[in-house]
Amino acid sequence: MKFILASNNKGKYREFREILEPMGITVVSQAEAGVHIEVEETGETFEENAWLKASAIAARTGLPAVADDSGLCVDALDGAPGVHSARFGGGKAWTDAQKYMYLLEKLAGAADRRAKFVSCICCVFPDGDVLRARGECPGRILEAPAGEGGFGYDPVFAPDGYDKSFAQLGEAVKNQISHRARALAAFEKELEKYHAER
Ligand code: IMP
Repeated sequence: MKFILASNNKGKYREFREILEPMGITVVSQAEAGVHIEVEETGETFEENAWLKASAIAARTGLPAVADDSGLCVDALDGAPGVHSARFGGGKAWTDAQKYMYLLEKLAGAADRRAKFVSCICCVFPDGDVLRARGECPGRILEAPAGEGGFGYDPVFAPDGYDKSFAQLGEAVKNQISHRARALAAFEKELEKYHAER
């Protein structure tokens, strides 16, 4: 089975491949498929945005497309940055480091540092069939960034049960417990059901 990943995010692409390939699923990037578009994320929920991305790429390519819309929800900020995680602070003009430093500033002195990563997967087939899955990873925001691995907010997020950030834990650990790993495991089950019912 082959899917186009509806994303231009290299970090997501790496994780999708590492998690889905052992399941026998081939992931093709938008760049490899020659699709150079960035779908606007105008939805208000992760689910809506994932559908917008997957359906646009499936319509453009005529091939099954899978998208993840994801983000970091911080309790003390009423769930922000949430669906706006990629556009937090100065948006696209800012580096990941500027965004997570801005987050740390907002949480300066906060005792409640609980947060969770959320990933919503949507897969759209060319005939219009849709599969969905969701995964969450609870944890906390550290006082200072740590580690070089991963992408996005990984240096400032420590998952429950660990004293290290996702960036320090590395991909082997992250890809076992992350929001994306959990959503993709649920997606694999949906895919099995879908094939069994056809
Ligand atoms: P989007 O799904 O393209 O809207 O982007 C989600 C944004 O959330 C990313 O650009 C990152 O800033 C953040 N994000 C999502 N998943 C992760 C993750 O696994 N680690 C760190 N940051 C993430």
